[in-house]
Amino acid sequence: MADQTPPQPAAIQPTSDDALHRRGLMFILSSPSGAGKTTIARRLLAEDADLTVSVSATTRPIRPGEVDGEDYHFVDQATFNHMVDANEFYEWARVFGNCYGTPKGQIRAGLKAGTDFLFDIDWQGTQQLHQKAQADVVRVFILPPSLDELRRRLVGRGTDSAEVIAARMARAQAEISHWDSYDYVVVNDEVEVCLGKVRQILAAERMRRTRQTGLIDFVRGLMQG
Ligand code: 5GP
Repeated sequence: MADQTPPQPAAIQPTSDDALHRRGLMFILSSPSGAGKTTIARRLLAEDADLTVSVSATTRPIRPGEVDGEDYHFVDQATFNHMVDANEFYEWARVFGNCYGTPKGQIRAGLKAGTDFLFDIDWQGTQQLHQKAQADVVRVFILPPSLDELRRRLVGRGTDSAEVIAARMARAQAEISHWDSYDYVVVNDEVEVCLGKVRQILAAERMRRTRQTGLIDFVRGLMQG
């Protein structure tokens, strides 16, 4: 029998061999929890050497399997407050009773050097980042195919109590109501299809003229023959 597998889109090739220098971008993926954002983010990071995750600081307790400095910078409330006062965050928010923030540190230098940063933040954080760094920000929202499917995925994870799932479902509906403040919205019906669309968004955004900072010299050279 013929192979029925549809051709898979090629993974994004690292742009580090590109002749032209470009400025990095801040690629924001938001979705209600359970819509598949974490899977999409992990796959993108694994296949794309030019993409680096932005590691947030949080006051939430570390979960089993998480690594300090990789999943989050786990800090106590006093340290977090100090960072807020010292203006060390691009944005911060309180989610489920804990504080989360995006440290400015490495991001500014990284963008200049052409590194792209992936952000897994909610709509409040997205709005704040967009206000502070509009030209560098690309906002992508991932929707579940239905609320029933979202509930099924949350229950299927087996990590949360019925109470937590109810709270996540309520929060999911609030998150979804902000869909129209994103640049792109993708429905995650099938993870491979969704991932393919997110790859295309990233590839196109990297080619924006304003990000290709090496173009001026290139075109100058071109005109001079
Ligand atoms: P969790 O505790 O499950 O890892 O994350 C809870 C929520 O906090 C998620 O919706 C996530 O998007 C959000 N979050 C994580 N880091 C940040 C951040 O730096 N800023 C903001 N505003 N939200 C964040």
